[in-house]
Amino acid sequence: MTEEIRDVAVVGAGPAGLVAALLARQHGASVVLVAPKAPPRDERTVAMLGQSVEILEQAGVWPALADKSAPLRTMRIVDGTRRLIRAPLVEFHAHEIGREAFGYNIPNVHLVAALDAAVDAAGIERVSGFAESVEPADDAVTVTTADAGSVRARLIGAADGRRSRARDAAGLAVRSWSYPQAALVVNISHSLPHDDVSTEFHTETGPFTIVPMPGLNSAIVCVVGPAEAERLSKLDDDALAAEFETRSRSIIGKIRLNGQRQVFPLSGQTARHFAARRIALIGEAAHVFPPIGAQGLNLGLRDAAAFGAVVRDHRADPGSAAALEAYDRARVGDILSRTTAVDALNRTLLTDFLPIQALRGIGLYAIDRVPILKRAIMHQGLAPRL
Ligand SMILES: Cc1cc2nc3c(=O)[nH]c(=O)nc-3n(C[C@H](O)[C@H](O)[C@H](O)COP(=O)(O)OP(=O)(O)OC[C@H]3O[C@@H](n4cnc5c(N)ncnc54)[C@H](O)[C@@H]3O)c2cc1C
Repeated sequence: MTEEIRDVAVVGAGPAGLVAALLARQHGASVVLVAPKAPPRDERTVAMLGQSVEILEQAGVWPALADKSAPLRTMRIVDGTRRLIRAPLVEFHAHEIGREAFGYNIPNVHLVAALDAAVDAAGIERVSGFAESVEPADDAVTVTTADAGSVRARLIGAADGRRSRARDAAGLAVRSWSYPQAALVVNISHSLPHDDVSTEFHTETGPFTIVPMPGLNSAIVCVVGPAEAERLSKLDDDALAAEFETRSRSIIGKIRLNGQRQVFPLSGQTARHFAARRIALIGEAAHVFPPIGAQGLNLGLRDAAAFGAVVRDHRADPGSAAALEAYDRARVGDILSRTTAVDALNRTLLTDFLPIQALRGIGLYAIDRVPILKRAIMHQGLAPRL
């Protein structure tokens, strides 16, 4: 398989890699996907905002997802701290910026299944194994798996997650950090409607977020200290549901757990550059976010869209130095500004420093009272203006 040189090989079949492969193929490139078959079942949901839905439409999978997803029409922020200076309640309504919804909350399992089916329908070749080695050379990169052979391509989409081997092969360094927090994630059913409102209670340990799912169902993302996450995850179903009811101030009524619990330690990671040696970083290979403000995969899909655009604009050699420079330029502002914003937001929640708490309160007050500022924030939350 090694002799023929493909235009593009995408390593990793998470949602970001699958979208990148589809968009590159749509632009006429020969594409091979190097990834193990049968991704693990995942009960998490992802809030796909603004441009992400357009990218999923472009990838041709939105019709398969629309009725499995819940619209997010209002984003509500509640100061759930017991601090001296507290922020006002702020509600962002999609109609204030002329949209029906900010986006849709999509179960991961349906998202990946729809993308997988689209990859097969598009005739994208698969090499079903983990990439064991990735070796860049002047004209192409060779990707070798343990027992599914090897493949050569002019451009590699490194979508192999936070411990990306392809990123190491490109020699792209990352900055990594951790937070004294963990996210407990579980799906629930409830007795009162969520009215398509996503509510984020900001607490001293991080946000407690309720994200709508279709019907009387929601996903909970509860960010607390690691010991508290451990304690909560060991409670029986009734006790945990009661904790959630207290934390949600009963706004969605009686709660019943509706799935398995997962705990994710919170960390962050970002590369300093996003492409080198015929390898471009996509999704968590490029950036890892704490699950705050629903940014991670939204950014990953914008990476995939930029990757597709580079393939379209550099058909002769999509892995050329000019193509890689164009990709890096297209992604650096968006990724670094989001990383900084999410990190700052999280740290303002954790700080005990009164002036910072006051600034946060004043900031949210101003956002609520100044319509032009509020609309600017809403637009910026959906897609970057760079
Ligand atoms: C609790 C929680 C809630 C979240 N909520 C949201 C949200 O609401 N909105 C949002 O936008 N984001 C959210 N995120 C972030 C989002 O889940 C991630 O950004 C996204 O899943 C990353 O997708 P990916 O395709 O980049 O990486 P992954 O899904 O990690 O995929 C990487 C793939 O590469 C494969 N792989 C690894 N090594 C190799 C190799 N050597 N060869 C071949 N394949 C390999 C892996 O098997 C895996 O399938 C959340 C994250 C968490 C933890």
